[in-house]
Amino acid sequence: MRVLCNICTNSIDDKIFCMQPVLRIVGGGLAGSEAAWQAAERGIHVQLYEMRPAKQTEAHHTEFLGELVCSNSLGSKLKSNGTGLLYQEMELLNSIICRVADRTCVPAGAALAVDRQLFARELTNTLSNHPNIEIIRQEISVIPSGLTIIATGPLTSSSLAKSLQAFHGESNLFFFDAIAPLIAEDSIDHSLTFRGSRYGKGNSPNGDYLNCPMTREQYYRFVEELVKAKQIPLKSFEGEIQTGVDAGPGHFFEGCLPVEEIARRGLNALAFGPLRPVGLRKMVEGTPPYAVVQLRQDNLHNTIYNMVGFQTNLIFPEQQRIFRLIPGLEKAEFVHYGQMHRNTFLFAPTLINQRLQARNRKDLFFAGQLIGIEGYLGNAASGLVAGINAARFLHNEQLVEFPTSTMVGALCHYVSHADRDFFQPMKANFGILAPIIPKIREKQERKAALAERSINEMKMFKGLL
Ligand SMILES: Cc1cc2nc3c(=O)[nH]c(=O)nc-3n(C[C@H](O)[C@H](O)[C@H](O)COP(=O)(O)OP(=O)(O)OC[C@H]3O[C@@H](n4cnc5c(N)ncnc54)[C@H](O)[C@@H]3O)c2cc1C
Repeated sequence: MRVLCNICTNSIDDKIFCMQPVLRIVGGGLAGSEAAWQAAERGIHVQLYEMRPAKQTEAHHTEFLGELVCSNSLGSKLKSNGTGLLYQEMELLNSIICRVADRTCVPAGAALAVDRQLFARELTNTLSNHPNIEIIRQEISVIPSGLTIIATGPLTSSSLAKSLQAFHGESNLFFFDAIAPLIAEDSIDHSLTFRGSRYGKGNSPNGDYLNCPMTREQYYRFVEELVKAKQIPLKSFEGEIQTGVDAGPGHFFEGCLPVEEIARRGLNALAFGPLRPVGLRKMVEGTPPYAVVQLRQDNLHNTIYNMVGFQTNLIFPEQQRIFRLIPGLEKAEFVHYGQMHRNTFLFAPTLINQRLQARNRKDLFFAGQLIGIEGYLGNAASGLVAGINAARFLHNEQLVEFPTSTMVGALCHYVSHADRDFFQPMKANFGILAPIIPKIREKQERKAALAERSINEMKMFKGLL
């Protein structure tokens, strides 16, 4: 079928081969959306291919670009945190993900959390209305020819994954990730919970989180039930890609462990982990809680809360039975149960250079979780780099490497240089920044110095773009 390209009105073949110089971006998630915006803002004609809603992934539910599949938090806003620093760098670079997140945020202490529906809808509208962006709802099954960015994320469709595998000549890595449950606000017993943010951080005078305090007895009973609860067999989520390295049941990404897996690591593992009662004790009268489950507002209407750190693979009736043991959640209505999903990424260091350009095909770029970046903002940041460099490629300008003293640059450096034996998805953190020499011993002082250097360098670097 031959149709006209919506932007340049040239004749195109199956909407894949437009005759104008065009940048094709495959995947309209966090990375693909940011890449499209950055390139379009530089005058590039962008065709953004997204397979939803015709073909959904195991975790997405809507047709919106940039849908957040699990937590509604994009991470900390504070410069003293790796994600917070990344956020500030990205704001300097005109990030559309940061801009839309700011417009749709909900109260969440020091974190940048958004109303997920509003966020994704607003992002979709903004990109749809950009004169240089054409959104094409179509699954891409083979790597397109011509200037392309692949940003199809951890749930890349199986046909494209096979094409990527053939191109890369390496096995896909393969592991599992998990989603936390969502609860209806009006089903929470507020007489048993209290409001508060750890260490008083946040915007609301009373604290941004709903906290469910547990006594020692309640906590032990909860853990006892949790560790023996029935789980969904992982086999049913393995998907169609069987050729890659299947890390197998029991192999999880440490940053997103299911709550039952943490519980199995020790009776007090949760009380020292996501349920730690620290920073909240002053807000409770009488005996301090032994553990605290935190609930974070998930939408602007304040009707839905998510269970912080409660990614899980329990079968749904077990989630209902066991999570209702938590004080305040005895009658909890689950708007969405926790789930586990396939999560695919490529071994990036042999695939791409620091400009996120394929090592063996100069007009092909990669971005997002597919290349082993973790976290919503980190993935958007990689889209930003790929979008800028793809635009420069088309303008015949020299491609840029962001300095490794910035969080954006450090992430790109990690995914293009990490050691084969230790390659795991990496989120923004101070450990990947080029160190300051001589080393500052005090941790907070060191972080402050690294953050200041990073922002200053990004301001200077921005002048070169
Ligand atoms: C179950 C689960 C839970 C997660 N929870 C969190 C969390 O709480 N916090 C966090 O920071 N990160 C989380 N992640 C990681 C999260 O996916 C990334 O942080 C982020 O969404 C990745 O951005 P991306 O743009 O690379 O991929 P995505 O946001 O997934 O976007 C990729 C897009 O490509 C589309 N696509 C796929 N294949 C094709 C194709 N062949 N043709 C056209 N379109 C295609 C998909 O439909 C999708 O819209 C989770 C991941 C999973 C799988």
